[in-house]
Amino acid sequence: MLPTLEKFIAGMPKAELHLHIEGTFEPELMFEIARRNKRKIRFNSVEEVKEAYKFNNLQEFLDIYYEGANVLIEERDFYDLTWAYLQKVHAQHVVHVEIFFDPQTHTDRGIAFATAINGIHQALEDGEKQLGISFKLIMCFLRHLPEEAAFQTLAEAMPFKEWIYGIGLDSSEMGHPPSKFERVFEKARQEGFVVMAHAGEEGPAEYIWEALNLLHVARIDHGNRCLDDEKLVQVLAERQIALTLCPLSNLELKVVQTLDGYPIQQMLDNDLLITINSDDPAYFGGYINENYLGIARPLNLSKETLAQLAKNSFRASFLSEEEKDRMIAKVDAYCASFTI
Ligand SMILES: [Zn+2]
Repeated sequence: MLPTLEKFIAGMPKAELHLHIEGTFEPELMFEIARRNKRKIRFNSVEEVKEAYKFNNLQEFLDIYYEGANVLIEERDFYDLTWAYLQKVHAQHVVHVEIFFDPQTHTDRGIAFATAINGIHQALEDGEKQLGISFKLIMCFLRHLPEEAAFQTLAEAMPFKEWIYGIGLDSSEMGHPPSKFERVFEKARQEGFVVMAHAGEEGPAEYIWEALNLLHVARIDHGNRCLDDEKLVQVLAERQIALTLCPLSNLELKVVQTLDGYPIQQMLDNDLLITINSDDPAYFGGYINENYLGIARPLNLSKETLAQLAKNSFRASFLSEEEKDRMIAKVDAYCASFTI
């Protein structure tokens, strides 16, 4: 029997809004796909891979993340990766996902854009039909690469426009401010994409201002560092620009030293629209429920606060207003019916 808190979190309907599909690559599946594609990886066992998942910063993680992605070659590989994630979160009562993929991680090593997106999209379609998980797919530009490469990727994405809801910005934040991508984001918005960006994870509050004022984002991914700037907090709250927080990721990448002081209450008190997400769960030791639990225990969060975070995940999503209301009502119904 699960303890009450764990049970409450586990059964609560929720959405995941900050998830890199390449970051769900579990070592077991990585070995299986490497074997069938006859690709060598530098690890000899699942245990060795897990041992390597101890990072000191974002860059150390990214180095291993890109290495793991190297074994993804065929459409089937991208399908299996995505399907494994959907099955996992289905069991965690996730009912809506807005997931990122990084086409440049694949096209730069000679894998066709179509191969990656076909596999991912098919799995998402099957997830909706078979598991009842609705979805939006978001394409991210790798910010350590030049803006020109992002323009190229945007052009490659155009034949698949129907399948791509939004555009994001990820990878190494420091030294690659949102301003570097101002023009390509403008083009993406002209094409009708909703845009968002990772900002204020390792980078300063200034990067969040840039994401708002230059990229015109609908959402900030991470955004922890907004708390350094009172005016910024006020603007984010007034405009209800959501932050997609990822507690276990922050802990593993040393953005925070412990989760004891994770500023959930401070952010809620400031009327920030915050959500809880897993970022790269295979690498950071937990999927969405483990992230909720990771803060719930040390911060002694009430069921009301946890339900608020789940409701926020729908409010901050790109679902229609009717769908949001319907899902929020489901969270309320769940809370009302929850008994120990
Ligand atoms: Zn991320």
